[in-house]
Amino acid sequence: MIAGAGQAGGRAAEALRARGFQGAITVLGEEAHPPYERPQLSKAMLHSPDASVTYIKQARDWSDVLNVRLETGAAVIDGDADRRTVTTADGRCFIFDRLLIATGTRPRKLAALEGSGIEIQYLRNVEDALRFRRSVQHRSRIVIVGGGVIGLEAACAAARNGCRVTVIENETRLLARAFPPLVSDLVAAKHRSHGVAFVFGATVTGATLAGVQLSNGETIEADLVLVGIGVEPVPTVAERLGLPSQGGIAVDACGRTEASDVFCAGDAALQWSRCHGRAIRVETWANAQNQAISVATNMIGETKAYNDPPWFWTDQYDLNIQVAGDMLDSDHIVRGDERSGKFSVIAMRGSDVVGALSVNVAKEMAMLRRVIAANARPSRADLESPAYDLRAALK
Ligand SMILES: Cc1cc2nc3c(=O)[nH]c(=O)nc-3n(C[C@H](O)[C@H](O)[C@H](O)COP(=O)(O)OP(=O)(O)OC[C@H]3O[C@@H](n4cnc5c(N)ncnc54)[C@H](O)[C@@H]3O)c2cc1C
Repeated sequence: MIAGAGQAGGRAAEALRARGFQGAITVLGEEAHPPYERPQLSKAMLHSPDASVTYIKQARDWSDVLNVRLETGAAVIDGDADRRTVTTADGRCFIFDRLLIATGTRPRKLAALEGSGIEIQYLRNVEDALRFRRSVQHRSRIVIVGGGVIGLEAACAAARNGCRVTVIENETRLLARAFPPLVSDLVAAKHRSHGVAFVFGATVTGATLAGVQLSNGETIEADLVLVGIGVEPVPTVAERLGLPSQGGIAVDACGRTEASDVFCAGDAALQWSRCHGRAIRVETWANAQNQAISVATNMIGETKAYNDPPWFWTDQYDLNIQVAGDMLDSDHIVRGDERSGKFSVIAMRGSDVVGALSVNVAKEMAMLRRVIAANARPSRADLESPAYDLRAALK
């Protein structure tokens, strides 16, 4: 049984069959869609009217090819870990031998805007993307709250469509949770060159139909506000099964939760990250796929630990930026010439490489991810030298 028909739920169902599991598989998903991938929702789907949803499989292939019972529009609202049941909103009760919770995350709401009358949008699912795409086509005045990846990809799409865009960020720089200042500045400059304005160090205190009020006393005129201030786990299933929320559902390296035969994967899982030195939720496409595949294997009796370093990318204008591991609280080495627009930043703690960020050098990132995963320890001097072949660190 899989609760949540998103990327992790879909990939886990596929993996169960790929590993030869022949028992019944039921996937219960709240959305009306079969499992799909989300990255294009804030990229291609906002830029091109022809871009379509990237489904993991076409709807009928779940039953016809994989013999998976996929129930869309079926939100799980209750569960009992002892009786091994989950119940959907329409009152159906399902019995499971093993359960995977793959209910992901949902956007954090901005309470200060609720009830203000101004149009508020979030960007999480297909409907959100189609709504925002329609909005940006009308050359609106758009305020984006949150200078993180989602907010900035949305800003990029809106600016390219000729909208007047202002991004409000309460930190003093963009992407402060994941990027070093050097790259935050580069991203801000790129957006400014496309006409995007920023207000830093301010929060939203309210709104009227005319615009958004900020803690610094400013009011920014807006037709709509897109809120991208992070996500939070969807608590229902875990709570109903008696699993304590610790900012996510705690799992071991095999995806096992504290409840017997209940597993968790994807955004919802709180998993140990060696790079961060603590348990974190890994909210990335790669984790939703690869952790889910690994956990599915454990659900059918194999033991396979998953400990890939976190990795994600963002595309904004002509920038492709990728981040692996943890870039915070570390010393940074710049590899390559930042003025060329193609370089990497490597994060070191002592002699450990704990993170890396690449700007328009995807090939180098592929090597850096391997260096981090292997816990390899090239010297700082080697890392600083673009002539140093990173493959040598893996020998
Ligand atoms: C707009 C956007 C752009 C992104 N871009 C990138 C990117 O460029 N690179 C990158 O690495 N990552 C990106 N991500 C992150 C990546 O898409 C997520 O990490 C990934 O989707 C997580 O997969 P998941 O299956 O854990 O959760 P989700 O994809 O959220 O799927 C969970 C599913 O469970 C359903 N559900 C929730 N509660 C219940 C319930 N009670 N009963 C039944 N079903 C339920 C939800 O409706 C949802 O369909 C992006 C995310 C978004 C939203």
